[in-house]
Amino acid sequence: MFHPILNQAHAWVERVLRPGDLAVDATLGNGRDAAILAERVGPLGLVIGFDLQQEALDSARARLTSPGTADRVILVKTGHEGMAAVLARKAPGRRPRAVMFNLGYLPGGDRAFATKPDTTLAALASALDLLSPGGIITVVCYPGHVGGQDEQDAVLAWARSIPPPRATVVLYQFLNAHKAPCLLAITPK
Ligand code: SAH
Repeated sequence: MFHPILNQAHAWVERVLRPGDLAVDATLGNGRDAAILAERVGPLGLVIGFDLQQEALDSARARLTSPGTADRVILVKTGHEGMAAVLARKAPGRRPRAVMFNLGYLPGGDRAFATKPDTTLAALASALDLLSPGGIITVVCYPGHVGGQDEQDAVLAWARSIPPPRATVVLYQFLNAHKAPCLLAITPK
């Protein structure tokens, strides 16, 4: 009944996305979200993925093994805080229907590349402005690593401050699990 956090994020996004949509993976990491988004948007859709590390871009590319999916994904080695400019260039006139964030650091990768509150908040604000009606933003926060709790607090404070007429904001969390990740979902009204 209660999916693990990442599966729940996928389930919500899959419900919202339609063939032909534009979708964004704001933190490619190992590319799992990008692969799911690419399946969902279909041959006429487009996925734009962001990461700062070449390692993440490479593993995301390697995950796009389903036929045709690699052709509908653009990977950019740019911070997600530059999302508006990249989308204006790569997908002019289109609004994303889903933007997924999976915060923290790439497991096994360089922790110096962990996401940071300032840039995360800038990217979230940008995503909310860009999102198409009926769209969704998902954010998985990890409080367990150094700086992770502060980032989660900043993200949740930002989310709580969104005026209710603007968006529905939902938090999904296993409350009795120690330092477990949580999932935030934002759907504009
Ligand atoms: N914590 C997750 C994995 C998160 S991966 C887990 O345990 O499964 C997060 C990715 O975000 C990393 O690959 C990192 O390089 C990337 N990242 C960090 N800052 C970024 C930024 N400003 N823009 C885009 N990607 C960023």
